[in-house]
Amino acid sequence: MLKVAKFGGSSMADAGQYQKIRDIIRSDPSRRVVVVSAAGKRSAGDNKITDLLYLCYAHLQYGVNCDAVFQMICDRYIAIRDECAIDYPIEDDLDAIYESLSARTSADELASRGEYLAAKLMAAYLGFSFVDAKSWLQFDYAGNVLQEASYAALQTLADGRKIVTPGFYGVLPDGRVHTFPRGGSDITGSLAAAALHADVYENWTDVPGILAADPKIVKRPAPIETLSYPELQLLSAAGTQVLHESAVAPVRERQIPLHPASS
Ligand code: ASP
Repeated sequence: MLKVAKFGGSSMADAGQYQKIRDIIRSDPSRRVVVVSAAGKRSAGDNKITDLLYLCYAHLQYGVNCDAVFQMICDRYIAIRDECAIDYPIEDDLDAIYESLSARTSADELASRGEYLAAKLMAAYLGFSFVDAKSWLQFDYAGNVLQEASYAALQTLADGRKIVTPGFYGVLPDGRVHTFPRGGSDITGSLAAAALHADVYENWTDVPGILAADPKIVKRPAPIETLSYPELQLLSAAGTQVLHESAVAPVRERQIPLHPASS
């Protein structure tokens, strides 16, 4: 039995969420492959790490110093590391990213670092191996996923091991980082599940499954128990905010059940 568990930004937002994830992973040994988003918002007025990274990029483009914004990113990940007492020198990764910043830094490369850092921390916390998305998720120059090559690479790298891999990005044929559209870690999770012939793809968010109505409008709407893949695709495309619409196809192709779950 293999479950691929993907955790979204809100599920990765702070140390308390990391602890919840560790409990979730430890409660079921078949959760051997974990896909993570960058830290999301801790509250309504908070910032997503990915937004801060794009903001850094914009600063660099305009020649404006981005130290203050970059420091906010460092503070978030260092706080998670310290509060969870994770034995991992995240400062080394942060320093390497900082050193690499210039007006020539690509938006995709910089934006991808949120997931990269989150996966490094989560791998150390869980005692799983870190597998960089750059080492398996391959795109062509048009941004299409090279599915067969990506699946083969992940099969070799995962090989029955317990791994954490970052969502949202992969690699172009020339080695540069390429990202999916926003919310694309869902697609990474689905591809990982398909690649490894998982029994289940679990998509963990702050929303308790797919509800019959928008909970911001209707009080306590009933959860929808089962959906067909086409229905899920349609609802995702309509903006239910539970799943990226492109995340349905990979698991659909291999008839892998997708379980939305909330942490
Ligand atoms: N971190 C990226 C975003 O904010 C990707 C994701 O979370 O799925 O869009």
